[in-house]
Amino acid sequence: MPENIYVTRPTLPPLQDFVASLESIWESRRLTNKGPFHDEFEAALAEHLGVPHVSLFCNGTIALQTALQALRITGEVITTPYSFPATTHAIYWNRCMPVFCDIEPGGFNIDPEKVESLISPNTTAIMPVHVYGIPCALERIQHIADIYGLKVIYDAAHAFGVRVHGESVLNFGDLSVLSFHATKIFNTIEGGALISHDPKMQERIDYLRNFGFADETTVVAPGINGKMNELQAAWGLLQLKTIDAEIAACKEFAQRYREGLSGVPGITCIEDQPEIACNHCYFPILVDETAYGMSRDALYETLKTLGIYGRRYFYPLLSHLPSYRNLPSAAPGKLPEAVKRSLQIICLPIYADLGEANVDRVVNAIAEHARPGR
Ligand SMILES: *Cc1c(COP(=O)(O)O)cnc(C)c1O
Repeated sequence: MPENIYVTRPTLPPLQDFVASLESIWESRRLTNKGPFHDEFEAALAEHLGVPHVSLFCNGTIALQTALQALRITGEVITTPYSFPATTHAIYWNRCMPVFCDIEPGGFNIDPEKVESLISPNTTAIMPVHVYGIPCALERIQHIADIYGLKVIYDAAHAFGVRVHGESVLNFGDLSVLSFHATKIFNTIEGGALISHDPKMQERIDYLRNFGFADETTVVAPGINGKMNELQAAWGLLQLKTIDAEIAACKEFAQRYREGLSGVPGITCIEDQPEIACNHCYFPILVDETAYGMSRDALYETLKTLGIYGRRYFYPLLSHLPSYRNLPSAAPGKLPEAVKRSLQIICLPIYADLGEANVDRVVNAIAEHARPGR
């Protein structure tokens, strides 16, 4: 029986290098609160990502919540049901009302054509997600936000390093949030960052991240503890050295998946777009039950019996969760595209050391179980 493979596998920095960082931490006894590794990592990350201001966080969820606080978002926030629970939860924890908007026909991100009809006098912000690192309709979303005076906060948890025509997607909207959780393409074990576009905003974010402290005796706002510690930052600095090679490796595996699956009836892969530098952190396929001859769930379970653990990102929809399903915007009839995608999706294993043999093993398993015309 071959080894089990999972949808992702965390990258670890070289042990010797991390030990050297630990020795330095032992020496300095600086463990957290903007230590030397923290500040070096923050600067290196801004440089690597091509963004002006990075604020590091202990995780992406606290960064999302802080983004809403930093912009003083109230009332209703238009968002997508096709995401990870943290997106909607962050809105809810800020005592705001999530308003679900359907996703694009044939795509995975919020449909800008449907945003406008959901705007009410209480709407203050839009929180879209760059699902699988695929950029949202950046310009159309900004256009709507400008007309109605709304803020745009991107959940960019999947969008590390993604560029459109050479420009970082993190430079769009008012704020963007990254996650460096162990399951993401770039990890600091747990971690995240908030990307802002002017020094005043970054200052406010940095106060909020540290209980609202502006100086020793001045607390300017009811902040939170969102700080990244020195071990996470040292880990992140080492990961920056290898991330480009990892993304390149994932790109090759993505291409191999596409070629291998191209002839399989009922399986659709997502093509790369030439103007987008993608990070290949997910490999989504859509299963058309009739054409493939087996349901998405049956294929998902079959792959598991073969030691291939994909994930149904994103199923169930956030609008189907008990906490949100009674909201007026959560009615499945209003979210037909999201419902459809959530029932067809499987994300296949993809990570830097997956290996071609494992790609072929997944491709063959999917191809062998096709029962077209059944
Ligand atoms: C991972 C993820 C988050 C949460 O990030 P954490 O760092 O785990 O808190 C938020 N949104 C999306 C879309 C994610 O995939």
